[in-house]
Amino acid sequence: MNIVFLGPPGAGKGTMAERVADETGLAHVSTGDIFRDNIRHETELGRKVKELIDHGNLVPDSITIELVQDRLQEADVQLGWILDGFPRTRPQAEALSDFARVDLVIHLDLSDEEVIRRLSGRRVHPASGRTYHIEYSPPKKDGFDDETGEPLIKRDDDEEESIRQRLSVYMSQTEPVISYYREKRLIVDVDATGSIDAVAAKIHNVLEKHAAG
Ligand code: ADP
Ligand code: ADP
Repeated sequence: MNIVFLGPPGAGKGTMAERVADETGLAHVSTGDIFRDNIRHETELGRKVKELIDHGNLVPDSITIELVQDRLQEADVQLGWILDGFPRTRPQAEALSDFARVDLVIHLDLSDEEVIRRLSGRRVHPASGRTYHIEYSPPKKDGFDDETGEPLIKRDDDEEESIRQRLSVYMSQTEPVISYYREKRLIVDVDATGSIDAVAAKIHNVLEKHAAG
């Protein structure tokens, strides 16, 4: 089973993809996490994409498509995958259809107001990608990762100016991907308002319905 999570920045794609991956054993593939790991380790790719990402702009399609194509050939994704953050443009969606099969697209829908609330309170543990929210999903000890005790950070692109840019990029570049999958009748819309548990329950129902055909 291959699933795509679509939705604006901060809608909860990573949080929900992680939960579904834990429940199903599908591999969670987040292009944002892969880029951030490369930035942290100062690889050639990391150096190339850092400025773009920090300012809320997209990494070029050619780079992103090749990265995902390679990732989906690795052994751990052969039972199926959950793509989180890809495809983000129509050319990416078209390229994906050339090298993989998408079974289901879950579109997490959220108002701009709530997006801003979620992103400005988001804190992450850089090494693992574990995500918290200062209000909605706080760590046990303020500012520190539950598992390692290491400090949490606020992503550079979660500052107000980059958030606004990401929302505008989402409208112009990623909304066409929603129409693309709607035409293919692969999309299920999920209202992403409500608590983490409430949204996870809605997604659970969608997956059960899909499995029942
Ligand atoms: P978000 O929390 O906004 O959903 P992600 O972690 O998915 O953020 O992505 C962070 C950044 O990484 C994006 O703003 C963009 O710069 C880059 N990025 C991630 N996925 C893609 C993609 N499929 N195409 C182009 N750029 C991407
Ligand atoms: P995305 O991957 O779409 O950018 P994340 O999964 O990183 O989004 O979630 C953005 C922020 O909102 C995180 O701080 C996360 O803890 C929080 N969050 C995710 N889902 C919910 C929810 N249903 N209710 C409240 N906060 C949420």
